[in-house]
Amino acid sequence: MDSNDNLQYNEFRKKRVKIFKRLILLAVGFFIALPNVLCVLIIFTMHKTNSSINSLTNELNLLKVTETQKVAFEETKAEQVDNPAKENFVFKVSSDAEEYEGYQRVYLTFDDGPSRYTDELLDLLEEYNVKATFFVLAQEGYDDEYRRIVNDGHTLALHSYKHVYSDVYSDLDGFENDVNQVYDFIKEKTGVAPLFYRFPGGSSNTIYKGDKNELFDFLNDKNLVYYDWNVTSNDATYGGLAKGQIANNVLKGIEGKDEAVVLMHDANDKHSTIEALEIIFESLQTRDDVVFLPITENTEPVQHVTKKTEEE
Ligand SMILES: [Zn+2]
Repeated sequence: MDSNDNLQYNEFRKKRVKIFKRLILLAVGFFIALPNVLCVLIIFTMHKTNSSINSLTNELNLLKVTETQKVAFEETKAEQVDNPAKENFVFKVSSDAEEYEGYQRVYLTFDDGPSRYTDELLDLLEEYNVKATFFVLAQEGYDDEYRRIVNDGHTLALHSYKHVYSDVYSDLDGFENDVNQVYDFIKEKTGVAPLFYRFPGGSSNTIYKGDKNELFDFLNDKNLVYYDWNVTSNDATYGGLAKGQIANNVLKGIEGKDEAVVLMHDANDKHSTIEALEIIFESLQTRDDVVFLPITENTEPVQHVTKKTEEE
């Protein structure tokens, strides 16, 4: 080998070393860059997966809600079929008494209202899903209460214009006057023509000295059916009764009666009546054979005294 060959060989070696160095540098650069590229790729993929998961979760939640609603709906439907007395919250309500053959039907009736407690009483009835009957007087300043009684689905019925015995029972004219006035008053306030009436003191009162048949005829001509009661709460006892006593009178009174018309009062001095009602509702809540109904044309009248005919 001459020196020329040697030179060429050295050149060749240098070139190879140079290429080799470049390859190493490239490799090092590649391995340094790789994790970064991978990281970016992973982050991008994670982001995409994340949004996919999110939308899937949303869809799943939506399905769950729909399913829950469906189950709740089915359960409510099943309860209604199994247990018609416990629809919704507490007591089933219907104005059709015939639907409740075989049930103990309780008609709560409130005389002498409206009062400062009428709204509270209506709130309580609403809370327990109970419909009742209000035998009212004609009183100014209670327009909202009269209307709410009707709008809440209770029966608005007549009691007296002023509830003054000496006027109501003075004679036939006095009686007709009193009924006509309260009738017109209620019709004007609510737009509803009343169908039911309760005598102040009941149909068996001994205050009226004339022929009661004339009173019954007058009511009949006016298309008014009168209702007395077969259960008394005694909430009108002079001096007032404790809520527990009132509740007990009602709970004992309705025992064994298929149709119980309960006499209670809606008056400014009778808050204990409302407190008693809460006890009554709580106590009867566990019974699924009791329904509270408003008086309607389908309700069998409870009358202490009826028209006497020739044969009697
Ligand atoms: Zn009264």
